[in-house]
Amino acid sequence: MYMKKALITGIAGQDGFYLTELLLKKGYSVSGLDIRNDPEHLSRLGELAEKVEVFKGDMRSQESIDGIIQKVLPDEVYNFAAQSFVPKSWEDPATSSDVTGLGVARLLSALARFKPEARFCQASSAIMFGTPMESLQDEQTPFNPKNPYGAAKAFAHFLVTNYREGKKMFACSAILYNHESPKRGIEFVTKKITRAAAMIKLGLAKELKIGNMDAKRDWGFAGDYVEAMWLMLQQEKPDDYVVATGQSHSVREFIDLAFKCVGLDPNKYLVKDPVLLRPNEVTLLVGSPEKAKKVLNWKPKVSFDQLVGMMVDEDIKDLQHKKTELIA
Ligand code: NDP
Ligand code: GDP
Repeated sequence: MYMKKALITGIAGQDGFYLTELLLKKGYSVSGLDIRNDPEHLSRLGELAEKVEVFKGDMRSQESIDGIIQKVLPDEVYNFAAQSFVPKSWEDPATSSDVTGLGVARLLSALARFKPEARFCQASSAIMFGTPMESLQDEQTPFNPKNPYGAAKAFAHFLVTNYREGKKMFACSAILYNHESPKRGIEFVTKKITRAAAMIKLGLAKELKIGNMDAKRDWGFAGDYVEAMWLMLQQEKPDDYVVATGQSHSVREFIDLAFKCVGLDPNKYLVKDPVLLRPNEVTLLVGSPEKAKKVLNWKPKVSFDQLVGMMVDEDIKDLQHKKTELIA
């Protein structure tokens, strides 16, 4: 039987892990593009690393992308590679735009030349809405990006539409709202909070430095969101979909819940740090998942409370394990 071939760029990231897990279960042959392709960078994949073929590649190089596309000749491509942290995109906007924006131009151009029938999913971002023009955003809401990361994602998003309409490729964008998991990068606020709550509980830290606690996000679980992206590529026609829960919570609510999970009062440990405040802050994002629900028959399975609980539990387990290793 023919095994479908998937290529995941940015396979070493959070979503790379969850999509790899899903596609392997579905019987796909999975390949990945990774900027470093060394065991340390691939550590998030754990045992899955042995079941995938990873190619060292850089979204800033057309040659590198061309070579990987020609080798893999994928049936499906999921573009997760990005410089995905907003403050970093202010520090180095040129690299951020190159990877997150132009990288998509290079990838689509390679596919158009070497595998035009491949199905393509771009990880677009709700951050493209910036200060949103509508209180509940959907696929029609205009973009109004407020930082270099959002601007690069918007550029990439339009390119995907260009290739779908102009080159008749099966190219889709998933407009992803913030999605989290125990595999989330430590620089993002959710993981920073759950890690700090767990560390304070175990006597490994004394405080949590925090920026704007009033910011609100529509937080979902990464495992649910990669399923939506897979479903998008199984449809008859390519299209864009908002992937969200439809509910928003503040950073403050996230903190309260995470500390409640470990039985601590957060007010004793919070330190407001003005350095963490952002220029042009994106204060509130909420997405309407109605189209994804109707067309893809998709809905998020993990609730906000379950997500926070899952992340705190994993951090406690991980830290206890590391502590035992140190003692042994
Ligand atoms: P991650 O940041 O965890 O993963 C992105 C991966 O891309 C990392 O492994 C990163 O490596 C890699 N990368 C960076 N630069 C390059 C480069 N030049 N060439 C190749 N790879 C590179 O992101 P997530 O898994 O959380 O998200 C997946 C995608 O979804 C990203 O595109 C993100 O922008 C988008 N998205 C995510 C949301 C979320 O809430 N998670 C919300 C909306 C969109 P390194 O770690 O070394 O930088
Ligand atoms: P983003 O939505 O992609 O920028 O995801 P983040 O998790 O990085 O940030 C979400 C929100 O949390 C933003 O509005 C930040 O300003 C806010 N925030 C408050 N304190 C912090 C912090 O210490 N770290 C991060 N990463 N974000 C913070």
